[in-house]
Order: sequence, then structure tokens, then C-alpha cells
Amino acid sequence: MSKTEIINSARKEGRAVLSEIESKELLKEIGIPTTQIQLAATEADAVGIGEKMGFPVVLKIASHDISHKSDAGGVKVGLKTKEDVAGAYAEIMDSVKQKFPKAKIEGASVQNMAKPGIEVIIGMTKDAQFGPVLMFGLGGIWVEVLKDVSFRIVPLTKNDASEMIKEIKGYPLLQGYRGMDPASISTLEDMLLKLSDFMEKNPEIKEMDLNPIFAYKDGAVAVDARVVLEEKS
Ligand code: ADP
Ligand code: MG
Repeated sequence: MSKTEIINSARKEGRAVLSEIESKELLKEIGIPTTQIQLAATEADAVGIGEKMGFPVVLKIASHDISHKSDAGGVKVGLKTKEDVAGAYAEIMDSVKQKFPKAKIEGASVQNMAKPGIEVIIGMTKDAQFGPVLMFGLGGIWVEVLKDVSFRIVPLTKNDASEMIKEIKGYPLLQGYRGMDPASISTLEDMLLKLSDFMEKNPEIKEMDLNPIFAYKDGAVAVDARVVLEEKS
């Protein structure tokens, strides 16, 4: 699906929040690396897609009523066999039905399991005064507890992208720490610049959240994504 098709179909259904599947389709169009992802409507479907995609896979709840998937018990990683996938599908549905009995469920997304990397996040919000603003930070406790993030106003220059990565306190982690692989800074800069360009050209986007992105020494992959549209004017 193209960007316009994704946005139009969400609007037709009266939704401002794009699903993870739709959000990742959009990322692919922007040229941001992300996981393979496909919707499974049934357990058997999930098993079939998993086999085709190649194990290990990840299963996640697909429901327009649920945006924090882990909180709903809706994420299962490291599924290595058909049995794992079948079991995970059933467990996810049980948990979600218990925690969100009113949620309308599309099924579960099946995605390839990305290899571990350094977790970073990129976000975009709109400031009343400055318009679209990009945020960069390290994932997990770094952002949740330490609020170790940097901001720049769109459009970003290459220098802005470079600076906003270097100025976070956790930057040494990205350079490789205690034998850990470093992260490719040029890949992260490229992601920021592509998102900046996309935001300039697409005012109908209100928010974006790539959380987390796994950063590697030779690339990166967005393993979760959430896009919110502006209310139609
Ligand atoms: P939530 O809606 O709770 O934010 P996420 O999609 O971010 O759910 O998944 C929760 C966690 O599971 C992520 O922070 C990441 O560590 C892991 N994860 C999610 N998708 C993948 C994937 N495709 N490959 C590897 N790990 C993943
Ligand atoms: Mg997430």
C-alpha cells in the first residue's frame, strides 16, 4: 500500500492512529529499515506466515484499540517453531481478552525477530510554536527514567542530525562500550534526515514514534512504530 492509500483507509475508518503494520509500511516508503510484518487473522494463519518468513519470529497483538502492546501481554518474542507460534497466538489472545475485554481484535502481526542491538528511539511531535520537532534518545530506562533525549526543529541539517546524536549523555554507549558493538552513527543520522524530509512534505502527520530502533555497527532496524495523523481539516 502507498502512503496515500494507508492514510485514506485509516481516515475512512475514522482512525487517527495507524496500526503497527500501517506505520511500518510508511517507514518502508520513507526508506527507513524495519522488520518484515504481516497480519495473521487466525492461529493457523500465524503458523503459516511464520514458517514462510523463517524462524525465529515475533508475534504481537493487532488491534486498533490497543497501542501499548506489551502492557496487554500482547508481545511474544523468540518463537522458534510452529508450536511456539501456535502457543504464543493463543496466549496473546487470552491475555488481551482478559485485560481489554472490549477491544476489537484484528489478529496478530507476525514479524521476523531482529537480532539484538543498542536500543534507540526517534520521535516526532508538533510544537505549537515551532511546528514539527524530532527527538532522539536511547531506549528503555534511558528515556523513561533519565529523560536523556535531544530535540531539533524540522527541517534538520546534516549537522543538526549529527549534533543531536552526540549530545545525549548516553552517547558513549553508541560508540561501543566494554566490548559491545558500536552503533552506525551515519545510519542514525540518515534516519533522522529522512524523517525530517518526510515531515516537511507531509503536514498531515501529527506524531511519529519509532520505539525501539535496534542500532547495529552496520545499520539499524525499527522494530516498533506508531504514527498518528492530524485530524482532517
Ligand atoms: P509496545 O507496544 O509495548 O511498545 P513493542 O513492539 O515495542 O511493543 O515490543 C516490545 C519489545 O519487544 C521491544 O521493546 C523489543 O525489545 C521487543 N521486540 C519487538 N519487536 C521485535 C522484533 N521484531 N524483533 C526483536 N525484538 C522485538
Ligand atoms: Mg514499542
